[in-house]
Amino acid sequence: MELKENILIVDDDIDLCTLLSEELIEIGYETDFVTSADDAIIYMQKNNVPELILLDLKMPGKDGFFVMEKIKELRLPTKIIVLTAYADIKSAMESTKLGAVDFVSKPYDLDELLISIRKVLNK
Ligand SMILES: [Mg+2]
Repeated sequence: MELKENILIVDDDIDLCTLLSEELIEIGYETDFVTSADDAIIYMQKNNVPELILLDLKMPGKDGFFVMEKIKELRLPTKIIVLTAYADIKSAMESTKLGAVDFVSKPYDLDELLISIRKVLNK
């Protein structure tokens, strides 16, 4: 039996979440999504910690930085790719400090995102 790699999408844009999760499931990843930082933390407390999180930075209420800080604080082994429309040098640098391993800008290009996902999961 082959274990599927588990990816959690965290983004307040529900349309992005549904589309991207469908795309990733079709490719063969086990994929879930949540639409807020709080739900991401609850998800990780209830479920197995995903191998990879695709994380939006800008969300109403607590943001992506909160999720990264929490993951760092709890020493969770999940990897993080930041997926944001607000891709600039400053947030990229801050994300890296908090443990993000890659950065993909929105609107995402699926091929570009897949290259990043494969690279991160194979590390
Ligand atoms: Mg957002």
